Amino acid sequence: MENLKGCLQTQATVQGSDVWYWKNEQQEFSVKDVKTTLGQQLDLNSAAYVFSWNNWVTGKCTMFVWRAIEEKIASAVALRNRGINSLDTVCKTCGAAEESAAHILLRCNFAERTWELVTNWLKIPMVNVEGSLTDLLVETSEVQRSKGVRKAIYAVIIQTIWILWKTRNEKVFKGRQGKVQTVIEEIKEASYLGVKLRSKHGSLTRQEWWDFNLMAGFVLDVMTVFFNESFSCH
Ligand SMILES: [Zn+2]
Repeated sequence: MENLKGCLQTQATVQGSDVWYWKNEQQEFSVKDVKTTLGQQLDLNSAAYVFSWNNWVTGKCTMFVWRAIEEKIASAVALRNRGINSLDTVCKTCGAAEESAAHILLRCNFAERTWELVTNWLKIPMVNVEGSLTDLLVETSEVQRSKGVRKAIYAVIIQTIWILWKTRNEKVFKGRQGKVQTVIEEIKEASYLGVKLRSKHGSLTRQEWWDFNLMAGFVLDVMTVFFNESFSCH
C-alpha cells in the first residue's frame, strides 16, 4: 500500500483525454516510432532461427511452441519477471528448480521421462534436455528420415510440448499430478488424429501410428530419400 501511495503521489493528472505512450517516449504512441525502435534493436546480419510451422497439428499448439521458445508463456519465472513478486517460482512438479518454460517443457524430470518415451516411440535419438527448446526443434527436424516422416516427427514434437504444458497446468491449478504413461498415450492419440485429419495420409491406421511404422503410407517420400542418398554417395 505504501509503494502504491508513493507511485500515485509522483503522478500528476492533467486536463484532457487519455493518450497512449510507447515505453518511455515522450510523444504520443505511433506505429512509426515502434518500427524505428524495433529497427534499431534488430541485427539484420545475425542468423535468425526460423521457426517452422507444421499444419498437421492445431494452430493453437504451434503458436504455443513459438511463444515458449522465447520464454513468453506464463511460467512462474515469466510471471515474476512481469512484476508478480509474491509468486513461488519453484516447479510444482519436481520442486528442484525454478519454473521456466525450458524447465517445464524440457529439463523437469517429468519432461525428461516423457521425452525418453516419445523419442523411443519415434525411433530417434533422445533429445538433449540440457539444451534449449530451439535446439530440440532443430535436432528433431533434421533427423535422417524421409520428408514425410520428418514432418510427422516434428508434429509429434509440437504436440508433446503442448501436452507437457497442459499437464503442468493440471498440476498447478488443480493439484493433479499427471502420469508419464497417460501423457504418452495422449500424445500418440492427439498426433494421430491430427495427421489423419490434416495430412494427405488419411488412410493411416491407428496401429501404424502407434508402432510408428509409416512405411506403407509414406512410401513416396521414402523413395525420394532413397534417390537423394544414392546421389550423395557418389
Ligand atoms: Zn520440475
